Amino acid sequence: MYSKEREQFEYFKKPCLAMLGGMAKAGTIPSNMCNTRILCQTARTTVSQCTECGMFFIWHHNILLNFKQKEFYLFLTHIKKYVFQQRSICFPDGEYRLLMHSAAEEISMAFTEEEWEDIKEVLTEAAYLANVYAILKGTP
Ligand SMILES: [Zn+2]
Repeated sequence: MYSKEREQFEYFKKPCLAMLGGMAKAGTIPSNMCNTRILCQTARTTVSQCTECGMFFIWHHNILLNFKQKEFYLFLTHIKKYVFQQRSICFPDGEYRLLMHSAAEEISMAFTEEEWEDIKEVLTEAAYLANVYAILKGTP
């Protein structure tokens, strides 16, 4: 494997392991993994946050995103401006999906209207709860 490829692979591997750190039960998790708690969850989306470093983990179907605190709120503010009818295109299966570009130029994410409403709602609720936790912790 090229070192560049390896680097990207390592990059993709990290959030998955961190996420599992919160999902799996004690005993099997290396001690350097994030200690996550679930903020909000539906059948297709889960948002969790590390109680120590504050990292956010978003799991939606086969998509896994991780954001530092500040980036999470910026991301949420940004995507709330997306209007499904304006950003959606018709896919080969006949279904319209909203396209969201990722930091990696080659990778985009696609959401049906229902998925889009779901992820927006879960992220909003998670942000609200994260704020409550931050206030309780004394670091808003
Ligand atoms: Zn952490």
